[in-house]
Amino acid sequence: MSRLLNIIVPCFNEEETVGPFYEEVVKLDPFFTKEDIKIEIIYVDDGSRDRTLERIKELRKQDERIRAVSFSRNFGKEAAIYAGLEHAKGDLVVLMDVDLQDPPHLLPEMIGHINAGYDSVATRRVSRKGEPPIRSFFARTFYKIMHKISKTDIVDGARDYRLMTRQVADAILSMGEYNRFTKGIFGWVGYETKWLEYENIERTRGETKWSFWKLFLYSLDGIMAFSTAPLAISSFFGMLFCVLAFLLIIVTIVRKALFGDPVSGWPSLVCIISLVGGVQMFCVGILGQYLSKTYMEVKKRPIYLVKEEI
Ligand code: UDP
Ligand code: MG
Repeated sequence: MSRLLNIIVPCFNEEETVGPFYEEVVKLDPFFTKEDIKIEIIYVDDGSRDRTLERIKELRKQDERIRAVSFSRNFGKEAAIYAGLEHAKGDLVVLMDVDLQDPPHLLPEMIGHINAGYDSVATRRVSRKGEPPIRSFFARTFYKIMHKISKTDIVDGARDYRLMTRQVADAILSMGEYNRFTKGIFGWVGYETKWLEYENIERTRGETKWSFWKLFLYSLDGIMAFSTAPLAISSFFGMLFCVLAFLLIIVTIVRKALFGDPVSGWPSLVCIISLVGGVQMFCVGILGQYLSKTYMEVKKRPIYLVKEEI
């Protein structure tokens, strides 16, 4: 029985890479014919400001199997993945970066695992070769923290490169949250997943869309989307300070009663007030972060807006 495979590729200012990506994928055509798989590439143009969409349209003239969804503005990769999944009707769906850091030549192996009964095949890179060391350090720390504070399985080095069955794609689509952290969502839905490992491949053309700051904010989003541990931390601080205050009261009373020490010291008072004030602000901040996420969810804004479909 013939199957349809949707290849979803989010693109943001990728005029240099959409072409080479297509070339790589069509190299696999003999394999697809052999397996009786029809393919359909869905480029999701995430509000690119360069000639990405024009390049996709040119490709479309050569090949009918190319489709595109173009956003009204940049909504981010997570939104692009969601849009791609919504537009994919295939029996199999694969998510891939357009910069060839997710090598298409792994597809035959991935499809092999699906044929063998897995529901999804995920990839992780075992090295971070070619990445600035501080970036690797923070990335590793993030995964360590995540591992400790969240029940959801979020794998270090996991890429968004994933092949899944219709059932898994539908499961991911059923999670219509606005603050999307796809790596967590994959772990959350479960299903039988096969992990493939490969060495990090550096981007050949174009440049990364992630600045350090963007990644940092993204990691905070991830923590808040899949853990409520920061809220527990603020309760912990609250308790800790209550106990400390209680001990201090006893010490002060005893000193006054037994030794007749005058209750003195505004320097210590200032220190205590600023410390407690700081911790309070910090905890209110954590609360505020969750509230703001809740606020965005409650608004039920669309995850993306389409300007053009091809
Ligand atoms: N991307 C996107 N929207 C964005 C940022 C990135 O669709 O706002 C796409 C980008 O075109 C690429 C993929 O997401 O196909 C991964 O981005 P990038 O290669 O810049 O990230 P990195 O590989 O450096 O983590
Ligand atoms: Mg990349």
